[in-house]
Amino acid sequence: MKISGLPTPCYVVDEALIIKNLTILRNIIERTGVRILLAQKAFSMYALYPLIGRYLCGATASGLYEARLCAEEMVRPLAEQNIKCENHIFSPAYKEEDFEDILCYCDHIVFNSWRQVEKFGTRAKAAGKSIGLRINPQCSTQKGHAIYDPCAPGSRLGITIENFRDSVLFRKFFPLLDGLHFHTLCEQDSDDLETTLDAVEEKFGEYLSHMNWINFGGGHHITREGYDIPRLERCIRRMQEGYGLTVYLEPGEAVALNAGFLVSSVLEIQGPAEKRRQGFGGNSVDDGLRIAILDTSAACHMPDVLEMPYRPPLQKSGQPWEKAYTYRLGGPTCLAGDVIGDYSFDAPLQEGDRLVFEDMAIYSMVKNNTFNGMPLPSIVLKQESGEYKLIKKFGYEDFKGRL
Ligand SMILES: *Cc1c(COP(=O)(O)O)cnc(C)c1O
Repeated sequence: MKISGLPTPCYVVDEALIIKNLTILRNIIERTGVRILLAQKAFSMYALYPLIGRYLCGATASGLYEARLCAEEMVRPLAEQNIKCENHIFSPAYKEEDFEDILCYCDHIVFNSWRQVEKFGTRAKAAGKSIGLRINPQCSTQKGHAIYDPCAPGSRLGITIENFRDSVLFRKFFPLLDGLHFHTLCEQDSDDLETTLDAVEEKFGEYLSHMNWINFGGGHHITREGYDIPRLERCIRRMQEGYGLTVYLEPGEAVALNAGFLVSSVLEIQGPAEKRRQGFGGNSVDDGLRIAILDTSAACHMPDVLEMPYRPPLQKSGQPWEKAYTYRLGGPTCLAGDVIGDYSFDAPLQEGDRLVFEDMAIYSMVKNNTFNGMPLPSIVLKQESGEYKLIKKFGYEDFKGRL
């Protein structure tokens, strides 16, 4: 299959680009002995789990379903090749009815409060699990994305030092803990990790030497051009050498960053006919901004474009008005704000043209939805050989089946 023959919309994940990211991560594992896990919530394309499990040390889950997916698609197939992968889980609160299954699938179970440790910790330890508590070092290092800041005041994610140390449950359950977990970064570099580690040590330092491991969470933009890997490795060694800890990282983004595309087709060009005849001009809708309706939707297929929000990179395009022909690219749903962004092109767009959005492997297929009865994009793997392989196609039954 060639790219021009792919059904649209479709996500195309490029195996060679995934391997490029995995190689960077693998080299850090080999240099430092850190344990790196895939955070499945960012990227759960399990066709690639056997590959990912050969480079990384396992995966982490946000709940029972992701934990089971890791068990079925990474741990089990690789165990047949004598490769051992770890299966970790963190949830703000576990459900009693899920917990037996979680004990079957997971090696590490991270809790969010002492009350959760009281409810489930003894059972987890009796089942031979390594258990941890998520801490909140109250150290916000990011500006901009408040909904992605677990250190914001009132955060429900992680236990503060006051609630950790001053709880009546501390004395009884502290000896049960094998590790501490924090996750406070989002698309950040290792200088912010270093700042966070300072806060972790300042607040929780006296407890670290009682632990076996520390988990630095995700949000490390390790595979981004210019990320400071030596500083990350110094952070890892600081915890290894200072406290004798095994260090875990659980990046999601970094595993599949810039390794996938969303290919869509132009359905129609709309805009003032008069202006269109005159050639291009103007800088607003009323002024002649043309609209291209695509067969992909920001709201349904790339929800982070609206949630973050951000303007995804698009191949062969420029900033609005940078090139000769500018269009507002929108989806076919009813939502007025279902707009991917304004982009310019060297030549006028035509019906049937293909547009290729970049960096669409992460937080895309795991978050998409069928609002308005929108079809879900197919999932395609561009294999290392260059061949395209259709992994999954969705239809009406996938829409109906969720309702
Ligand atoms: C989201 C999340 C991750 C992965 O974050 P990325 O930004 O995708 O690297 C890891 N651990 C936890 C607990 C998370 O919530």
